[in-house]
Amino acid sequence: MNTDLYMIYGTNYQQMARDILEAAHIADEIKDPHARIALKPNLVLDAHPDLGATTHPELLAGTIDYLRDHGFNNIVIMESSWVGCKTGAAYKKAGYQKLCHDYDVPFIDLQKDTWKEYDAKGVTIKVCDQAMKVDYMINFPVLKGHCQTYITCALKNNKGLIPNVEKRRFHTMGLHKPIAHLNTVVPINFIMVDNICGDLDFEEGGNPVMMNRVIGGFDPVLIDAFVCETMGYDVDDVPYIRIAEKLGVGCADITQANIVELNEPVVVPTDHQPYQVRHLARYVQPIDACSACYGSLIHALHRMNDQGMLRHHRESIAIGQGYRQKTGKIGVGNCTHRFELCIHGCPPKASEILEFLEKNWE
Ligand code: SF4
Repeated sequence: MNTDLYMIYGTNYQQMARDILEAAHIADEIKDPHARIALKPNLVLDAHPDLGATTHPELLAGTIDYLRDHGFNNIVIMESSWVGCKTGAAYKKAGYQKLCHDYDVPFIDLQKDTWKEYDAKGVTIKVCDQAMKVDYMINFPVLKGHCQTYITCALKNNKGLIPNVEKRRFHTMGLHKPIAHLNTVVPINFIMVDNICGDLDFEEGGNPVMMNRVIGGFDPVLIDAFVCETMGYDVDDVPYIRIAEKLGVGCADITQANIVELNEPVVVPTDHQPYQVRHLARYVQPIDACSACYGSLIHALHRMNDQGMLRHHRESIAIGQGYRQKTGKIGVGNCTHRFELCIHGCPPKASEILEFLEKNWE
């Protein structure tokens, strides 16, 4: 399995999607100009992508641009929202009606599709027929929290390829085992993670954490393992990742990843942070902080808050490019390298920040 993980930062999401696909040489992978290519966003419910639950349509727009430029025109978008929402409502609210109209690309509502049963390495799973008639699948999960599984990204996004009756059954089976087994039968070719502003805790959004990053890769297990570190969890906290690894879906050892940084993190002012993020940001003194750095720190503080480890009297944490020539007590990221205590990285991951704060933050 290819272990490349492509990282790109910025706010021109459409161009960022193109750049990732170019870097990963996806056209060479697909080869056949008549290949049926499916784009699978996360339209879990009817919410605007800025709320942290659904995939930004700009990523699919950039992907369609790229594919057409390389002579691929047999493109469809497909998705099935969660049981409580009609896919058609999510399609409109998240901007996909306009995307499909502007690009003249068909949208397949998998809630209306037929399905068949498959033997997914010992577990029988129903999968929608249209999802299995694909030559190349590009999955566009949102990197975000989840109230039951802690994180949701590449592996779990494939739940949108099964009928509602099977989604209900997955919950009765405890989610982890069926999610892992599902990934042994559905088509998985490339994954483009929307790490623009995924939610802190909930798959339905509401507390987006701005990170302005897009991640590309081929291995859904490796990507989900990376997501754990990005959000301050251990891979073992999310059982479906380990189960999928054992089933041969991919590799959960993040040290095996070949990280390809396509540019550097960018500073984007965040004027309107949701309450929960503002609450955590009380401990932070940012000056020109890049979104990915700041977001990693917010995730780390959230983990500390979950563990009851946040106290009001702690020293403020410095973060951002404005600290490059400054000294101080405690800082996060390479820009605070002159501080007495600093966790290096550009940006550091939440798991690294968490470990650092647990040891050093008075
Ligand atoms: S270390 Fe500095 S340049 Fe690097 S991501 Fe953090 S704020 Fe940005």
